[in-house]
Amino acid sequence: MKLTFWGTRGSLPSPGRDTVRYGGNTPCVEVRLANNNLIIFDAGTGLRGLGDAITAAGGSLKAYLAISHPHWDHIQGFPFFKPAFIPGNELTIIGAQTRNITLRQMIASQMDQIYFPVQLNELKAKIRFLPVREETVPVFEGLLSTMFVYHPTYALGFRLTVGNRSIVYITDNEPFDRESAKLLKNVDKNIVDLYLQQKGDPNQRVFDFARGADILIHDATFTPEEYVNHVGWGHSDYLFALKVASEAQVKKLVLFHHDQSRSDGAIDEILRTCRHEIKLRGHRFDCVAAAEGMELGW
Ligand SMILES: [Zn+2]
Repeated sequence: MKLTFWGTRGSLPSPGRDTVRYGGNTPCVEVRLANNNLIIFDAGTGLRGLGDAITAAGGSLKAYLAISHPHWDHIQGFPFFKPAFIPGNELTIIGAQTRNITLRQMIASQMDQIYFPVQLNELKAKIRFLPVREETVPVFEGLLSTMFVYHPTYALGFRLTVGNRSIVYITDNEPFDRESAKLLKNVDKNIVDLYLQQKGDPNQRVFDFARGADILIHDATFTPEEYVNHVGWGHSDYLFALKVASEAQVKKLVLFHHDQSRSDGAIDEILRTCRHEIKLRGHRFDCVAAAEGMELGW
């Protein structure tokens, strides 16, 4: 089974000389199961490249697209996903919805004619929507579990399990702090309550969700110095990503959702610091920084 990163950048596409190695596209991760069945995490601008590769390879497509949340950087690639325009292809979109807006409406809205020339109902592929809350649904031969992470309005984390192997995808997550959560009020109240009900460290929810994963992909948008000025933005610094990986005892941590203004050299530096911390603290997991085109076996 194989993972390929098509978009690793947070918030805004960031092409240019300084981001060539880690990439400028926003989140999209391709997961291939043993028989080539396809599950995609997020529809950021990286989805365009994946769609082009699928179309070039030919054949029909039957895939799942799991969307963490509908902020621009996680859905913007969808209108450029060529397989969605091809009759006979089938796509199931998995994500959360709110009381006011359905999952279908979230995807359709960004293709409203005032923003985009092609509307969702004009796409030729068969597109099904599967709204979820915190639950486990079957995807091909695997199981996909969902959990609300801590991010403005809401965002989902995903855990894909196939046999005894598992990948956890947690982008756009911030460490939950009881005091600041009460002041901020920018996250769905029901989700805040889930964390407040947790005994001890509220982030234990996240540690338990990621427990023993072969690969943990986690938000590492900020440095610790930057984070203090960005509390409530819904993102982590790399030290929290390391904490989740160590508490959950995962095998490999992938630093993800790089800040849009972070150069390749600065990401190298963060990775060096993380590896130094891991050694210093005696942790056993590997750490890599997500890069466009990077493939990982699992
Ligand atoms: Zn994001």
